Amino acid sequence: MGMTKKSPSASPEFSVREFFQRFPDEQACLEHIMAVRFGGLHMDCPACGVEVTYHKLTKRRVYACPECLHQIAPTANTILHDTRTPLVSWFYAMYLFCTTRHGVSGKELQRQLGVTYKTAWRIGQHIRDLTSKAQGFDALLAGHIELDEAYVGGRRSGGKRGRGAPGKTIVMGLAERDGRMKAVVNP
Ligand SMILES: [Zn+2]
Repeated sequence: MGMTKKSPSASPEFSVREFFQRFPDEQACLEHIMAVRFGGLHMDCPACGVEVTYHKLTKRRVYACPECLHQIAPTANTILHDTRTPLVSWFYAMYLFCTTRHGVSGKELQRQLGVTYKTAWRIGQHIRDLTSKAQGFDALLAGHIELDEAYVGGRRSGGKRGRGAPGKTIVMGLAERDGRMKAVVNP
């Protein structure tokens, strides 16, 4: 599987506008994580086995089974867990890192996310730690990287998926599938 030679930022397929259409708010981000990690809100409950639709608890990043009240926190074991920063901001920061050739400064993140410099710097550090282990953005797009119990990764269509290590979670990656840039969050 060949690496893409062109800069990811040269790919207009997944534009900023499309990003915010796809991830307009916290719920969209959470549901995306639920979709990738658990196949969606509708599932055979892993606790009671009944086919149910999990519903979100008010003001918490938690979904519950209507039958047995078992709770699922979609961000558990990822760098997104317990963050007070909106998930859209995290998703967008990852999007920026994945689509910007020369990295994203703390100042730029602060400006783009509308958060304090301190928060922007910390988000940038988390993502930078992950991307540094991907050996460049081409690798980030094609492969996977680890940070403690989290991955950031993605794959190209037909590429080998770098998942499967016990206790590891792919938090997010941008992968080109069918020629389209897509943001994905994978377990
Ligand atoms: Zn249940």
